[in-house]
Amino acid sequence: MTIGKIIDGKAFAATLRDKVADGVGAFVEATGRKPGLAVVLVGEDPASSVYVRSKGKMTAAAGMESFEFKRPDSIGEEDLLDLIEELNQDDRVDGILVQLPLPRHIDEAAVIGAIDPAKDVDGFHVVNSGRLATGQEALVPCTPLGCIMLLKDELGDLSGLEAVVVGRSNIVGKPMAQLLLAESATVTIAHSRTRDLASVVHRADIVVAAVGRAEMVKGEWIKPGATVIDVGINRVSDTEDGKSRIVGDVATAEALAHVRAITPVPGGVGPMTIAVLLRNTLVAAHARAGLTKPAGL
Ligand code: NDP
Repeated sequence: MTIGKIIDGKAFAATLRDKVADGVGAFVEATGRKPGLAVVLVGEDPASSVYVRSKGKMTAAAGMESFEFKRPDSIGEEDLLDLIEELNQDDRVDGILVQLPLPRHIDEAAVIGAIDPAKDVDGFHVVNSGRLATGQEALVPCTPLGCIMLLKDELGDLSGLEAVVVGRSNIVGKPMAQLLLAESATVTIAHSRTRDLASVVHRADIVVAAVGRAEMVKGEWIKPGATVIDVGINRVSDTEDGKSRIVGDVATAEALAHVRAITPVPGGVGPMTIAVLLRNTLVAAHARAGLTKPAGL
């Protein structure tokens, strides 16, 4: 039995971060300033705090300026919108990222909509999603952009391939489908109302699973030779030793017998997300400075 390839997202992300760091060096030489990323964290959610800390570290490691703004859970929407406006006006800031989710009393769409689209390095603003959907230059959400980079690296030309994206969120599923369409793949988006998901997935040369359900996509659903990108991050507790571990949305061990290649969880898509965030910040900095984006990014 042949076993598929495990796509090393960790190594790919490290190479991308190195390219970004080189681009940052050239940007500093050209402009006399570092690109800057501002991260806004509301509340004390431990997982979000960990993400924000690690984003700050990686931003600094890439040679960029990192600005962190922590605000209490009790902050009002108006005060948060005022902060966003300050960051929009701040010339040192090229990228603004608001860590989601926000507390329930704050309208997420209003906050995202207040970010200057030129600084929207998460690519969640409707101006950027509209640009992506209409084939214009856009800041694109980090996770799906990371997935398309891995797919192009593995498969080269995606034109004409059947792609099935499982999940239709604004953060992953929908922009993923747009990116695949832009590469001329034939794209199907599946979701919780899709009938006979197994046979829909079985048509695909490319499967992107972004559901949030542990190992939901079974090995036998995968067409032989398909390439699988597993976006899911699910914490499950091991019945044997009681410890918890992270698994994806795909039953990887089973799928390996069917796939051409698959991203592991952890170590696949996850490390790409922050690397692409740094890439987006550098690209935004270039656009704001009137410079063309560095080649290869
Ligand atoms: P959402 O919860 O926003 O969306 C999940 C999608 O899955 C929805 O469109 C939903 O359908 C669909 N879905 C749910 N159940 C089923 C089912 N039984 N069959 C088919 N489709 C189903 O999640 P996100 O898109 O934000 O994230 C998805 C996963 O990716 C999560 O595990 C998340 O942790 C992970 N993630 C990982 C990142 C990374 O850096 N690696 C970054 C972002 C997310 P419907 O719309 O009909 O409800």
